[in-house]
Amino acid sequence: AAKGAGRDRVHVFSPGLREAARWRLEVANRLRDGAVDEFVVHYQPLVRVDTGEIEGVEALLRWQHPERGLLTPDAFLSVAEETGQLIPITRWLLGETTRQAAEWAEQGLPLRMSVNISARHFSAETLVRDVRVALHDSGLAPENLVLELTETSVAEDPTRAEDQLAVLRNVGVRVAIDDFGTGWSSLAQLLALPIGTLKIDRSLLAAAARLAAGGTGPVLAAIVSLARTLGIRSVAEGVETAEHLQMVRDAGCDLAQGYLFAQPMPACDVMRWASRVRAA
Ligand code: C2E
Ligand code: CA
Ligand code: CA
Ligand code: CA
Repeated sequence: AAKGAGRDRVHVFSPGLREAARWRLEVANRLRDGAVDEFVVHYQPLVRVDTGEIEGVEALLRWQHPERGLLTPDAFLSVAEETGQLIPITRWLLGETTRQAAEWAEQGLPLRMSVNISARHFSAETLVRDVRVALHDSGLAPENLVLELTETSVAEDPTRAEDQLAVLRNVGVRVAIDDFGTGWSSLAQLLALPIGTLKIDRSLLAAAARLAAGGTGPVLAAIVSLARTLGIRSVAEGVETAEHLQMVRDAGCDLAQGYLFAQPMPACDVMRWASRVRAA
């Protein structure tokens, strides 16, 4: 135990952690000073497994930092959530993404738009209003907006989650459970909620791919088929290889998302990507 404590002490003063603490402080300061202007959205296609067609996109937050370049969420998301800044950022993002989806629809590319909602925002009074305002201002049909909620944010307080999901269902938006398989919530309990989609975390797919036949492949198939019985569609995340895609197809997933198809990209590239795939 003494040895363990000593090791911990070394860690506390390691330059890595000091650097990390300094970065968190810097992020918090910049967010407070209105860095919201520096955020951009990238979009990653969700592709139908049977036809290869694009059905929708997931909006992924990026920070165009003036000195450090384009940052992915791992660099700032937890700080933004802790400081309460993620809610106003997401409010902006809902406006931006619904406007973008409405514009694509007008240009002949109707895409379902998926937006990630944090646990804190999901349990906040303001979420329903934020969603309504974005739909109203953009004119996007509610069924074309999908809110992605993590397994843990609905499992934390199931009763409250049920109420909130019922309200969102009334608004007409769709709900997906994100990162499924990373928490330890009960599958039965999750699937009893009014959700439309289960997004299976890439760790599950990677595990299935690592093991030989008879590994977790059948588990994947069982989850997908159970979900389908309840009218819930499945999305496989992190499809990186042709082998992954074959597994996902064998398991019966409806949609796939991953680097095999496309990396997240700026809005201006989405139209070109979609028409290239259609032409192919
Ligand atoms: P997520 O919701 O699970 O999003 C998918 C993440 O996996 C994205 O990382 C995406 O770039 C990455 N990805 C996609 N395909 C592949 C693949 O084939 N292989 C691998 N290894 N990775 C792939 P990203 O953009 O860095 O986002 C990380 C996480 O940050 C997201 O995970 C989500 O939890 C969170 N996030 C992103 N944008 C937002 C946002 O606007 N609001 C909230 N609350 N969270 C967000
Ligand atoms: Ca997501
Ligand atoms: Ca996910
Ligand atoms: Ca994830």
